[in-house]
Amino acid sequence: MYKIKEIAEALDIEPWRIRGAIERGTIKFRDDFSPPYFVFTRALGKIEAGTAIFLGEKIEVIRGFPKIKRAFFLSNAVKNHFEDKVAVEEKMNGYNVRVFSIEKKLVAITRGGYVCPYTTNKIRKNKKISRFLKENNKVLCGEVVGLENPYAIHCYEEAPKFGYFVFDIREKGSNMPMSIKEKNSLLEEYVIEKVRLFGIYSKEEVVEKTFEILKKLEEENREGVVLKDPEMKLEPLKYTPSKTNTSDLRHAFRFPFDFGRDFFFSRIIREGFQAVELEEDEEELKERAKRIGESILFPMVETIRRVRNKEVVTDDYQIRVESMEEIKTLMRYLQRQGVTCILGDVMQENKNLVATLKRIRPNSNDKIKSILEKGVTSE
Ligand code: ATP
Ligand code: MG
Repeated sequence: MYKIKEIAEALDIEPWRIRGAIERGTIKFRDDFSPPYFVFTRALGKIEAGTAIFLGEKIEVIRGFPKIKRAFFLSNAVKNHFEDKVAVEEKMNGYNVRVFSIEKKLVAITRGGYVCPYTTNKIRKNKKISRFLKENNKVLCGEVVGLENPYAIHCYEEAPKFGYFVFDIREKGSNMPMSIKEKNSLLEEYVIEKVRLFGIYSKEEVVEKTFEILKKLEEENREGVVLKDPEMKLEPLKYTPSKTNTSDLRHAFRFPFDFGRDFFFSRIIREGFQAVELEEDEEELKERAKRIGESILFPMVETIRRVRNKEVVTDDYQIRVESMEEIKTLMRYLQRQGVTCILGDVMQENKNLVATLKRIRPNSNDKIKSILEKGVTSE
């Protein structure tokens, strides 16, 4: 069943480990796409979480996108981590999407390894990417950004609604990345949009340069940077300015009981180390404290007040599609992923439907309601 032997061979893992993971449910089987596929919801040996294995005529392995370590104290992170030159790329704020072709069809999977019907339909309209995949049997790794998607909202002036910016090109099966130079020249050849490369610097100058770049990015409300070995032999490092950390907090504290505690903690710790590394004076520290405090308190107070007023607090996302059927397919898919949405307004705009999906954040609504009523909590 399920071609376990072939999969084991392709991954170089013993078959019993795969069978075990399927039984435990950490490898999931999905038949809502053709060909059907397996998803690794956890890492198994060297195989990353987010790996998808398509079970067509031929077995195709799309490895998970590797986790990127975060620098908390940039100067020492760079000193210990890199060897020679360091490439500074923009980190764009959206959701991670791998695009490749399976049995001649373009497929887009999100970070967890699931085929997202919305993202797949959107990217299929991109002729340059389609041509690239016809001519290159590779995996494009990139960020979907903009205001029209069901996952992450951040407006970019170069792609206000829906954009896809590539940051890696990898091999199917092995996950081997191309060097920065090779990747960028191939993307340029096909005129495919890519994340910005600010420069390739020596290890000695890169920290100062990065802080300069971050200052500008922060003024423009852009997320941050990823530092990479130009040959892509070492793991990359990510780093973000304060405004990014606090704007994440501002969003998460609208739904304080729906985000994991690590989410909040990590963002607050980042602020402490950054303040020390930037040698901030009392004035600057006060500014930072105000920024952090407001990003925690203001959204939380607003949510509590709204729940007290009997409102259901939702997280709203806009999508743009061509038919009601597409909306239904997406909502069914999200439901299967454990995300419950209510369909809000649907408006006709030329040939498109623009719909609002109101994502329910159940824990925050329930918990806040209960605390308001009972006045106590076991927290
Ligand atoms: P992680 O991806 O490290 O597991 P995470 O989901 O919290 O954690 P982020 O903190 O957003 O993700 O940072 C990593 C993500 O940044 C990548 O998975 C990718 O989607 C995104 N990203 C944006 N720009 C780049 C870039 N230039 N290079 C690599 N990744 C980038
Ligand atoms: Mg991100």
